Amino acid sequence: MKKSGRRKFIKNLSSCALLASINPKFLKSLFPEDLFLNSSSELSYVEAKFYKKLPDNEVKCEICPRECVVGDKERGYCGVRENKKGKYYILVYGRPCALNVDPIEKKPFFHFLPGTEAFSIATAGCNVNCKFCQNWQISQVRPEQIRSFDVSPEEIVKYAKRYGAPSISYTYSEPIIFYEYMYDVSLIAWRNGIRNTVVTGGHINPEPLLELTKVVDAIKVDLKAFHEKFFKEIVRGELKPVLETIKLIKKSGKWLEIVYLVIPTLNDSPEDIRKMSQWLVKEVGNDVPIHFSRFYPMYLMKNLPPTPISTLEKLRDITIKEGVKYVYIGNVPGHEGEKTFCEKCGQIIVDRFGYTIRNINIKNGKCKFCLSKIPGVWNI
Ligand code: SF4
Repeated sequence: MKKSGRRKFIKNLSSCALLASINPKFLKSLFPEDLFLNSSSELSYVEAKFYKKLPDNEVKCEICPRECVVGDKERGYCGVRENKKGKYYILVYGRPCALNVDPIEKKPFFHFLPGTEAFSIATAGCNVNCKFCQNWQISQVRPEQIRSFDVSPEEIVKYAKRYGAPSISYTYSEPIIFYEYMYDVSLIAWRNGIRNTVVTGGHINPEPLLELTKVVDAIKVDLKAFHEKFFKEIVRGELKPVLETIKLIKKSGKWLEIVYLVIPTLNDSPEDIRKMSQWLVKEVGNDVPIHFSRFYPMYLMKNLPPTPISTLEKLRDITIKEGVKYVYIGNVPGHEGEKTFCEKCGQIIVDRFGYTIRNINIKNGKCKFCLSKIPGVWNI
């Protein structure tokens, strides 16, 4: 990778849709010897994994349940995979449009290395089209419509090390669509003692998912609702494959957390939440953390109000009553539902305020007060 000037780098960053989320600490630390990042308008054309060649130069992508059949010179639904004369390519390999250093709590992971930072990356594109998307500026665009950087997997790991991040997070848009890049970064990171976390909507086929679980450490799934109608009309996806993904992750032994963004009138039915909680307890057990996150009007859903805090509290109570042990409230800084309580003795074992950790009372994976084991990954 060639060096670029500081001015050019800042200009590139200014073009990045996620500028608002770029951590000032990250920016400050990139002067001047770290300026190795170039913008690139060129697509990368690296051969994709998990596709089948069909007659007449068509291909079938098997990364996600859409299984797009793509003709020559055409792209799949996510817009970042292209067929060239019967060979299928990913166009965003090594082309992240967002690079950041975030608290791991922002993903959110609450039972995975709390208080640490995650070197976070994303490319353009997504395999669904949620009307409420919180990162639509990068997820709902084609790679040509956004400024990206040119960063190899080795360089991502190098940066994570340089900024002291014990994990790399594939996040913001939908990492499944940049699967090959995520996989290669993860493998190198893993060999270098850096963990990998994935933040996904869960639309992935079982075979690529099982491969991925071999090189990543934790996966957070956005379970966007618990009925198909919502998935069809609001997400343009399907619930069933997401539930299969959740079961497979749990079976793989990798750390799993679930987020449920509560949207007023659309997915806030107490009955759905009761059914979802019962399903989770039955299929993945009662110690997978669930975060009920507050919705803010965004993208194509500016007509709805933010979620009332009382709704989040009501849904949290239902889930706790159904037996789930760790149920959190997200996007409400200072709420009691941000803290982790020991399920046995009731003491606060992780005290949070927003993304800030005030105190951790967990030692060697056990509650400091009563020594009961707390599920999660607590030590670097
Ligand atoms: S990853 Fe993209 S191209 Fe492949 S099936 Fe999913 S939406 Fe289609």
